[in-house]
Amino acid sequence: MSRALYPGTFDPIHNGHLDIAQRALRLFDEVVVGVYDRPNKALLFSAEERLGLALEAMRALDGGERAKVVVYHGLTVEFARQAGAGTIVRGLRNSVDFDYEWQMAQTNHWMARDVEIVCLFANAPYSFVSATLVREVFTLGGDVHELVPAHVTRALLAKRPASQAH
Ligand code: ADP
Repeated sequence: MSRALYPGTFDPIHNGHLDIAQRALRLFDEVVVGVYDRPNKALLFSAEERLGLALEAMRALDGGERAKVVVYHGLTVEFARQAGAGTIVRGLRNSVDFDYEWQMAQTNHWMARDVEIVCLFANAPYSFVSATLVREVFTLGGDVHELVPAHVTRALLAKRPASQAH
């Protein structure tokens, strides 16, 4: 049985993440979405909120019953081992992602030879989407409903100060 870990911050989970997760579900028997609890960046959603949003989104995928969503901290390779995942899946949008992912993959593989890193290329409609972009557009009053599942739009709206609601 093959099990992959798809780790990330998912602040919030968006359609680009879900495209990678859906494709990972076709490649692996089980997919564990690892929500990294304390990244070195400003967050909009708490770890519990990001977990809840990812859980609901994963349930809606084809084969979503074969996915688990778990919050983790510490080294991703250690969490992969704990979760029994022999593969880490990452998404690649562009050359900026590539440079970062290349270095991260080398580091992870250097630390854990038993864990493979597999990168899937972003599909064109999602290749420009990032969680940072979703948060920025939303925070400035923009409409992001085409980039995220409906329940994520609702969660974003609940974060909007009443003074900005329209
Ligand atoms: P990070 O590790 O940079 O915090 P995220 O949590 O936003 O990344 O995303 C987790 C994974 O999803 C990373 O591998 C990232 O490259 C990938 N990813 C993010 N956005 C997209 C997208 N639009 N299409 C495909 N993959 C994506």
